[in-house]
Amino acid sequence: MSLVSSAVGAGRFAPSPTGDLHVGNLRTAILAWLWARCTGRRFVMRLEDIDRVRSGSAERQLEDLQAIGLNWDGPVLIQTSRTKAHKDAIAVLMESGHVFECYCSRKDIRTAASAPHTPYGHYPGTCADLSESVRRSKRRELAALGRAPALRFRPPVSEWTVTDELHGNVTGPVDSFVIQRSDGAVAYNLAVVLDDAFQGVDQVLRGDDLLAQAPAQSALAHVLGIPQPTYVHVPLALNSDGVRLAKRDGAVTLPDLYALGWSVADVVEWIGTSISVRGARSLSDLSQALDYEALRTLELAPWIVEPPTDKNGAVQRA
Ligand code: GLU
Repeated sequence: MSLVSSAVGAGRFAPSPTGDLHVGNLRTAILAWLWARCTGRRFVMRLEDIDRVRSGSAERQLEDLQAIGLNWDGPVLIQTSRTKAHKDAIAVLMESGHVFECYCSRKDIRTAASAPHTPYGHYPGTCADLSESVRRSKRRELAALGRAPALRFRPPVSEWTVTDELHGNVTGPVDSFVIQRSDGAVAYNLAVVLDDAFQGVDQVLRGDDLLAQAPAQSALAHVLGIPQPTYVHVPLALNSDGVRLAKRDGAVTLPDLYALGWSVADVVEWIGTSISVRGARSLSDLSQALDYEALRTLELAPWIVEPPTDKNGAVQRA
């Protein structure tokens, strides 16, 4: 059975419902929409709710995305609705020898990961090649503590190359990342690959904080027989101290900006200026101003956001 939807290719936006979207997230969503639409793709939405979720956040994120004029094809995919498909894929990977049980605690990993030759943050390989008798006793030890092993990907390659429309060909190490946590929950790195395929996504646009994970995700897609998507890792929004933008940085969400007297059109115009378009008051203005070639010249430098502080911010900027 193919894991890939056979429809026309799609771009996507896949937020985690952990809080309100800020202007940096909205900018990524707009770029994903523009990139998909101007390359003749469908555009799909997915809520990645398999990790931490803040109550009410999913609804507010979708409302804000609609408010800025974003539209998407088909229903929003809720990631937790796919647990069975995720677990089925894990069973397939186990069958083909691409999974091993890991009995390490976080502390074990921290200690072993400081060994030379382990790429920063990567799994040091402690449980990759244990004998079956050692595994049995490790399982018993964990069970006595009321814990179960995590499952990790056993990659067939140590590095992999992805193609990114902004960064070119990017080769990176492929880690033995967790695909199922010790509490039985499916991990993001597996779910993202399966759900993109399920939604027919062949253009993965997202923040460039995830660029380092793309080679491993793409190698997993390959093992699962999923065609390689094209990636577009766009720069993040940072505050004036160079730190990733967050709600505490001031008026950075739509409700905050409304409270300062901004309209949706003002917000779209602000985001437009960050991608070198002046005077675009709607997504349709933006899509008229930017074709595929223009999008590909997007600056790789982060967007430094100075949140407005007074009601006339929008007027003063214009
Ligand atoms: N859900 C992730 C986030 O909100 C994005 C994952 C992805 O786009 O692959 O940061």
